Amino acid sequence: MNFEFNQTTQTLIKSVEDFMQQHIYPNDQIYREQLLTSTNKWQTPDLMSDLKEKAKSAGLWNLFLPKEYLPHGAGLTNLEYAPLCELMGRVLWSGEVFNCSAPDTGNMEVLAKYGTDAQKEQWLTPLLNGDIRSAFAMTEPAVASSDATNIETNIQREGDNYVINGRKWYTSGAMNASCKILIVMGKTDPSAPKHQQQSQILVPLDTPGVSVVRPLAAMGFYDEPIGHAEVLFDNVVVPSTNMILGEGRGFEIAQGRLGPGRIHHCMRLIGCAQRALEMACERVNERVAFGLPLAKKQSVRESIATMYCNIEQARLLTFKAADQMDIYGNKVAKNMIAAIKIIAPKMACEVIDEAIQMHGALGTSQDTELSALYAYARTIRLADGPDQVHMMQLGRNVIAQNTRTE
Ligand SMILES: Cc1cc2nc3c(=O)[nH]c(=O)nc-3n(C[C@H](O)[C@H](O)[C@H](O)COP(=O)(O)OP(=O)(O)OC[C@H]3O[C@@H](n4cnc5c(N)ncnc54)[C@H](O)[C@@H]3O)c2cc1C
Repeated sequence: MNFEFNQTTQTLIKSVEDFMQQHIYPNDQIYREQLLTSTNKWQTPDLMSDLKEKAKSAGLWNLFLPKEYLPHGAGLTNLEYAPLCELMGRVLWSGEVFNCSAPDTGNMEVLAKYGTDAQKEQWLTPLLNGDIRSAFAMTEPAVASSDATNIETNIQREGDNYVINGRKWYTSGAMNASCKILIVMGKTDPSAPKHQQQSQILVPLDTPGVSVVRPLAAMGFYDEPIGHAEVLFDNVVVPSTNMILGEGRGFEIAQGRLGPGRIHHCMRLIGCAQRALEMACERVNERVAFGLPLAKKQSVRESIATMYCNIEQARLLTFKAADQMDIYGNKVAKNMIAAIKIIAPKMACEVIDEAIQMHGALGTSQDTELSALYAYARTIRLADGPDQVHMMQLGRNVIAQNTRTE
């Protein structure tokens, strides 16, 4: 096993690190101030477009899109992308600068993989250019959406159109002023076999009958300017050519998008946890309690050591999962993807929680990123499948692999 990154990756790591130092960290405060003073909280701060141009010129654009989609994207493997995505994860808003932020990454991958030429031209091209944003609307307030067979939104064929009725929530990105397109999951045939009832269809956000009802908080954070929306679909009519891949193929598409989407969240969370650890180290060096800097206390050193070990474990497992996706494909790597999706969000929650503890009240305040990092990590224990669902599936697979049939 080789633990060295190849030359391409090492060069890109250096470029992303330099970019973060030059353009992201110095603008972190400015980004937040622009957001605070803006009259429209769902409008991305002005500095974003300038930063995006800089990232494009530096060749740090669409790094997430693997090589099978060339000429779209940078053509990196998952393993090559992993340390870059980790670096972007250190600042919650920085993914957009590199056109590498969820849910656009998953939506672009779906369109690149399954879209028709016309769908690609209309939606993939502007998304790849970073001109618009998008959202994925699957979860519904009325049903347990961790079991996607429950999704009830109705997608009814009528002549050359589909008519859509339903209510979604936690549609991340749909609050943003640049969001133009939704990928909506719903039932086209409730009488079909269980996994062929659902379809995914493109719905422009400005279609009559689509209403963004309200922004939803995630642990008290509204995550402006991206947001998580409740969206109502009331007799929404779209042309039949908006169907992705075909009726009844919704699960197939969901499987295709979720593997990469899940590991990308884990890569970002390792960046969040690493940043929290570094912030904790700085804080314990300067804060003096009971006559000594916190850094000199044994229990603090033990906590820091545990944080370090837990990040390293999750990072190595993420790299291994990414490598298996590259070598064997997402389907074969599913156990590793499930394992890291169980481990990384929990690890990040624990590490960030410890960092908050070492910061005292400051850790819970708006003066550090720690509480926002914690809220993000905590919600990823739910988003893209709650821990228990991954454990159910992983447990089932491991038992099956280790049960001898006579
Ligand atoms: C910040 C945030 C952003 C999100 N973004 C999006 C988005 O962009 N698009 C989208 O469609 N959705 C999004 N979601 C929704 C997310 O995917 C769902 O919350 C998740 O799939 C769980 O569905 P649910 O909320 O209906 O919970 P439920 O299905 O009601 O499940 C509740 C709980 O039941 C337990 N449970 C479920 N199954 C099992 C089992 N087999 N064994 C034991 N326990 C079990 C788990 O603890 C689970 O958390 C987002 C959520 C959050 C918090």
